[in-house]
Order: sequence, then structure tokens, then C-alpha cells
Amino acid sequence: MVNGNQADLHRQEPCDRRWAHARCSAWWQRLSEIHGIDLGPAPAVELSTRLSTTAGLAISKQRRIKLSAHLLRTVGRETFDLTIAHEVAHVFVDLLHEDHCGHDRRWKNAMRAMGLPPARCHGYPVTRRRTQPDQAPRTTRARRELHRSLASHLASALRTLVPWLC
Ligand SMILES: [Zn+2]
Repeated sequence: MVNGNQADLHRQEPCDRRWAHARCSAWWQRLSEIHGIDLGPAPAVELSTRLSTTAGLAISKQRRIKLSAHLLRTVGRETFDLTIAHEVAHVFVDLLHEDHCGHDRRWKNAMRAMGLPPARCHGYPVTRRRTQPDQAPRTTRARRELHRSLASHLASALRTLVPWLC
């Protein structure tokens, strides 16, 4: 079953995918020029509707990056561009050094060379699912209390900026 939000994502997807691919190629080109090295074609881009708190992933060996379609929608292209650069830098340094560089000095230098902050986490707003309490309260008053507290938890969860690993 596809809910409204997912249907929205599907509608926007071809356009977002083209944009993400163009940005990926641009960052790849920039890194190639900065380092004076041609590492071949830019990574392939996959927009995932499954990634909800993770903004992006780099699968360097397959020359591929995976991006959260949901977070791209949430924060907008201008902000999300940093995530694309972040993942592209992973693939670039991993292939260049034939190593899994993680967020080490080599990756940080690549980010700085592009004029970007070498931050490993994004601060995009994400909502966490909260679990229901095991026992249902017995009295009406207790139920009302619980209702209020759940509502306020939900409101604060929506307001909170939770940093997650990229
Ligand atoms: Zn990373």
C-alpha cells in the first residue's frame, strides 16, 4: 500500500533523481579537477524511499551512492546538496586510496578542498517512532494524563533536530 507521502515521493522522484545525478556529477568533476585525477565516471545515484533517518550512503566499491528521497524532500535541494558532496567525497577518496577511508583525514581533506565543512553527521529534522506503553491505564484520569504526555512527546519529537550518522 502506498500512503500519501510515499505517493508524493514517487511523483517527485524522476525530477529529484535527475537533479541528484547532476549534482553528483558536478561534485565528482570538481574533486577530479582539484586533485588533477580522472577516476572515470561519476558514481551512480539511487534515491531510496526506505532511508528515513540516514541521509545518504556511499557504496564505493560499486561506485554508487544512495540518498534518502524523504530527507531530500524535507530539507530541500540547497541543503541536501551537502549530503551529496559528503557521499561523493567518500567514493572519491576510497577509490583513490583503494581503502575504506571512513571519515578520516583523507575524507576531511577532500571535503575542505571543496570548500565544505567536514561534518560526519547531518542535523536534518527527523522524527523517531515512539513505542506505546505496555499497560493501558485503568482510570479515565490516568488515560487523559497519558494522552497529554504522548501528545507533548510527539510535539517535542517533531521540534527536535536529531543528528544522525550520514
Ligand atoms: Zn559519511
